[in-house]
Amino acid sequence: MQVCKYCNELLPLSRFGKNNARANGVDYKCRPCNRLLRRDYFKTKGGVITDIYSNEVKSSRERNISPPHYTKKELKLWLLSNPLFHTLYEEWVASNYTSSFKPSLDRRDDMLGYSFDNIILCTWGENFARCSLNILNGTNIKTVNTDFSICIDYTGLEVTCSSIREVVELTGLTYDEIWENLDNTYMGFIIHEN
Ligand SMILES: [Zn+2]
Repeated sequence: MQVCKYCNELLPLSRFGKNNARANGVDYKCRPCNRLLRRDYFKTKGGVITDIYSNEVKSSRERNISPPHYTKKELKLWLLSNPLFHTLYEEWVASNYTSSFKPSLDRRDDMLGYSFDNIILCTWGENFARCSLNILNGTNIKTVNTDFSICIDYTGLEVTCSSIREVVELTGLTYDEIWENLDNTYMGFIIHEN
């Protein structure tokens, strides 16, 4: 048994995650507290930047392009010194953390990697809209079927997807969230199964 440092509950060790930095190998906060702290962290500017950077590393690997040409620290300085980042962040908070308002980085040239010359700051919804337009214009290699359609409710832009996986990638929603909210407005999207 151990007392959680956050909720002060005395709980069995199985309720705590691993932490190899600690002598007993068990984290000092229980799993539910850890989950809440992580959720809060990803709502901060630092959390948004961590999220952007780790997605860039992951997507560079998946697309087989070179990793970001900057470190996370350099990206953080670049974003924090850009007034637009603070404006977009405030708008995202004001939208109650709606995905389509989340600050995001898009690449000017999709063939090139993430470098300060090739990134543009925008909202997640704009990034999505641009990506969708590329698909609609056929400038993206993604194949388009009509199994799902996603509509961004505030722009009315609609894009079709051939698989639920593609819907997950484009919206950032989870499978459960998509199924539970089909045909309803959810996080700024309306998703239909065709
Ligand atoms: Zn706790």
